Amino acid sequence: MATNDYVQNEAFFQTLIEHSANAIVLMQPDGCIAYASPATASCTGYPPEEFAGRNSFTFIHPDDLVAVQAALATVMALANRTESVEYRFRRTSGSYSWFRGTFTNLLFRPAVHAILSTMCDISEQKRAEELLRKNEESSRALLAREQAVLRQEEEVSRHLNDLFMQAPAMVCVLQGSEHRLELVNDAYRQLYPRRGFVLEATVRENWPDLEDQGFFEELDRVYQSGKAYVANEKLAMVDREDSGVREAGYFNIVYQPVFDAQGSVEGIIVYVMEVTEQVLARKRIQESEARLRRLIDANIVGVTFCTLDGHINEANDVFLQMVGYTREDLRAGSIDWARMTPPEYEELDAQAVRDLRAQGAIPRPYEKAYWRKNGTLLSVVVTAAALDEANPNECIAFILDNSMQRELDQRKDDFISMTSHELKTPVTSIKGLTQVLLKRFEQRDEPDIKRMLVIMDMQLNKLTKLIGDLLDISKAQGGRLIMEQKPFDLDTLVSETIEQVQATTTTQHIKLIGKTNVTIMGDRDRVGQVIVNLLSNAIKYSPRNSPIVVKVFREGRQAITWIQDFGIGIDLSHHDKLFNQFYRVTDPREPYPGLGIGLYLSRQIVERHNGKIWLHSKKGEGSIFAFSLPVV
Ligand code: ADP
Repeated sequence: MATNDYVQNEAFFQTLIEHSANAIVLMQPDGCIAYASPATASCTGYPPEEFAGRNSFTFIHPDDLVAVQAALATVMALANRTESVEYRFRRTSGSYSWFRGTFTNLLFRPAVHAILSTMCDISEQKRAEELLRKNEESSRALLAREQAVLRQEEEVSRHLNDLFMQAPAMVCVLQGSEHRLELVNDAYRQLYPRRGFVLEATVRENWPDLEDQGFFEELDRVYQSGKAYVANEKLAMVDREDSGVREAGYFNIVYQPVFDAQGSVEGIIVYVMEVTEQVLARKRIQESEARLRRLIDANIVGVTFCTLDGHINEANDVFLQMVGYTREDLRAGSIDWARMTPPEYEELDAQAVRDLRAQGAIPRPYEKAYWRKNGTLLSVVVTAAALDEANPNECIAFILDNSMQRELDQRKDDFISMTSHELKTPVTSIKGLTQVLLKRFEQRDEPDIKRMLVIMDMQLNKLTKLIGDLLDISKAQGGRLIMEQKPFDLDTLVSETIEQVQATTTTQHIKLIGKTNVTIMGDRDRVGQVIVNLLSNAIKYSPRNSPIVVKVFREGRQAITWIQDFGIGIDLSHHDKLFNQFYRVTDPREPYPGLGIGLYLSRQIVERHNGKIWLHSKKGEGSIFAFSLPVV
């Protein structure tokens, strides 16, 4: 039969379709099923007649619908066009099975006028594919896992290698009874910056500088005994520079045996950590501590370690003897320098503590006193320094027993006081008698005797002033300098005193400038004494014919008296000591008479009037001494 005849023979087709093992369905472009072949029953579970009139799309898995419709659309665009698509088809059981559908456009054939769809069950093939995919996936995952594990292992071993190579201690691995070098890390370079090493060579060949120091013998022992060797701060003579010169170093060393599977030693791991710097630093500290200890225990001066709030943590024997406490008292914590200090020295101590906190030291030693344990007073000179910048609350203090000096000072003061008292009466009586003689010789023509009597009287005046000053000093020291409290006019006092002092000199002229118009409350004679002292100094320490200027003026609630000369001046280094008793600036080339009392007494008097005294002066440029007094 010719092809064409087949095509025309509908009955033949009918038979072909009816007997085909593949399910064959004729449907409309909208999916409506016109015919389903008997084989659809075995393929899908539905009897063919159930398909008739139903839309085939309702059997397709929603996820595959788009692909099916797309295939249909492609097929419909052209007559005879065939397209295959895989999709899941819902069976009567409700479960889906995979099919390959082939659509052929037979719409133009009047006898068919439908889309021919054949369905081939490909569930088995899909299952096999799925299985393959899953297998592939799991083997891929397995591979990835294996690779990850490998990477991790690599990472760990790289890390271990890094650790080994970069360890701060030198680590080397030795093999066999001869200790052949198998491996050594980078720290080797720190120990031997200029020396190489030979792998596989023995330790004795690699490090001949260590011969005769017991290290190799120790390695032999570890190898034989299987027991580790540990040594701390071991001294070794090492030829670091490979120059033939060995130098000392300190090392922490561990020789750790390594065992084989049978439990015998096959090698040794050696750890060497250099600790030379630490050991030397510790030795230096120990030495300086020992030196300090020797100084403290030498018992030359009292030494204490104390806190700034008073607690004495440590003291040497000299200090304990000075203050009469025992070592048990010290241990019991019952020695407290703040509680041992009389109130009049509290401010001095407070200043010292401020200096310690700010500068870590006291600028100069100062005098103070302590109550001894037995209640008596001990004069001392103290200086201190902070122990540690990090802990400024602790200091070391050096204490010198000053009682001997104080006693000498006291004896000197007593002597001055006694002699000036003893001198006062005879000088007063000689002065009186001189006055009587002067009167007697007034009318007589005895010019020589009269001149001598006038000189005697003048010298007696000087002597009387000197005795008066010495008496005042001892009174000031004992706090017995009595000050009157009466109002007086300052301007009058100043001009009268200038007149009085001017009478004693014909070579220097004293010039007064200004007026204060103020009244001062206090002791007129004592303030007069201050002006006399300052004017006498101005005359004494300046050349003949040089002027002296006195200026008085008011500044707020203060009246200022200012005395200026153009004399020798005073170097700055003396300024702060000038008002101390008996302090003098002496220059053997320019000897000036005096005792160094005037300025001391002047300060005492001014301060007792709640005033201040100061100076401006430079060597060779004259001086200005000034004092202020509060006005009424
Ligand atoms: P002194 O009896 O020595 O003058 P003072 O106490 O009055 O004692 O003075 C102390 C020291 O101060 C003097 O020795 C002197 O060196 C110095 N001084 C005082 N006034 C003057 C001055 N106007 N010019 C230079 N030096 C002076």
